[in-house]
Amino acid sequence: MSEPQKLAVIGCGHVGAVTAACFADLGHTVVGIDVDEERVASLNDLVLPFMEPGLQDLFERHSVTGKLRFTTSYEDALDGAAFVFLCVNTPATITGAGDLRYVRKAVSQIAEVVSRGKARPVIVNRSTSPIGTEDTIDTILSRSFATAEKKPIIAANPEFTREGYAVYDFFHPERIVVGADRVEDAQCVADLYEGVVAPRVLTDLRTAEMIKYVSNAFLATKVSFINEIARLCERLGVDVDVVAHAAAMDPRIGNQYFSPGVGYGGSCLPKDVVALHHTGESVGLTMRLLASVHDVNISQRKHVVNSIRAVTGPLEGMTVAAWGVTFKSGSEDLRESPAVDIIGLLRNEGAHVRVYDPSLREDRDLPFADEVCRTALDAARDADCVAILTDWPEFEAIDLAELRTTMKGRLIYDGRDMLERAAVEDAGLLYCGVGRPATGSREGNARNGARAGANGSQ
Ligand code: NAD
Repeated sequence: MSEPQKLAVIGCGHVGAVTAACFADLGHTVVGIDVDEERVASLNDLVLPFMEPGLQDLFERHSVTGKLRFTTSYEDALDGAAFVFLCVNTPATITGAGDLRYVRKAVSQIAEVVSRGKARPVIVNRSTSPIGTEDTIDTILSRSFATAEKKPIIAANPEFTREGYAVYDFFHPERIVVGADRVEDAQCVADLYEGVVAPRVLTDLRTAEMIKYVSNAFLATKVSFINEIARLCERLGVDVDVVAHAAAMDPRIGNQYFSPGVGYGGSCLPKDVVALHHTGESVGLTMRLLASVHDVNISQRKHVVNSIRAVTGPLEGMTVAAWGVTFKSGSEDLRESPAVDIIGLLRNEGAHVRVYDPSLREDRDLPFADEVCRTALDAARDADCVAILTDWPEFEAIDLAELRTTMKGRLIYDGRDMLERAAVEDAGLLYCGVGRPATGSREGNARNGARAGANGSQ
């Protein structure tokens, strides 16, 4: 049995707050540091700034056990810490490269504090950062430490949790990846996860960083692939749902991230695809597939608007109800949300957009919307079109008859495959979705005919 350790977690956003609370739950004593004073105060008051199932419970339990607290002081948090986890943000720069400004700043602050003491902590980079970031960290540390013996050890422990499932994923990962120059150091970091059942992949630093990018880039590739196939299916009158479902029955393909929709978003996939592409460029390799994955994803937003306009006619003066603004359900995160971009495109063509999202707290300001509504039906009032842009389960359960009488127009654009075409059409509404041609169009009629045939033969 390895001993519980003292940990510092730098950056208490989605990743840092979850990492801190989950390690406290594994028995370690954890102090989280953030530069955002308001965030630190709210975390210490057990008020979480974002939605994450299971996290509130961990915070409440470990504020009592004394294993979890937050501070803005590096001196306080690093005092006696054997491991320092870097969980700061790494957005994209204008070129697409991972922006290491926050990593640099945090490492400089660690170096300043640690160089004054005797301890030699392990700095564990958990932020998704470009392959070779350890060289940047090492260069910064070298300025403060005269000898290699005193310099903190560097490790990488990429994080694979999904927003909305982050606590569950921390305790049930598919694998725990740790990179370090020496396998003993990687093992020490892996030992912190004692009690979590999962294969350990201990490797070098660059390989660990690459595993994270490859995982996200592959998921993004699946999404863009099926979205492009969906567009082809639309033109050919082929049922993309049956195609995707049947193809995914092959376990080599699998059904996750393989459903046509409005495209991927969030704080990870978009920037990680672009950053990996940029890494290729930096060593003289043009990664054409990644460039296309990104292009398809961006053009998917336009495709949604084109499809709506093809049914409604010019959008000038139309009222559109946008159901969902977050990049996915179970999260309040608007970063790189396809819904936000689509709403912008609709408004740019003169549509008036009324938005509803179940995660919206009352005080949330949404400058990108014309109106923010309290319910899905309220948003749909007198709308010409309802566009489902986030996969919140409540949209599946909507009363379609009531929706029909609430709306002025009849188009339901199902960007997330939430509704049954037949049920929508039976309610007197028009159905259209990604890869799912509009009711009344030649391709839509072909699809309905094919369905009738398929049903008749059962
Ligand atoms: P975030 O923006 O939610 O949080 C980052 C936090 O770091 C902020 O609270 C910020 O104030 C703080 N910070 C910045 N500089 C600091 C400094 N010098 N000292 C102390 N605090 C500082 O970011 P996030 O979503 O938690 O992502 C963090 C990293 O994890 C990123 O590299 C991201 O790509 C990666 N990642 C995120 C997810 C996810 O689900 N969000 C999943 C996997 C990986």
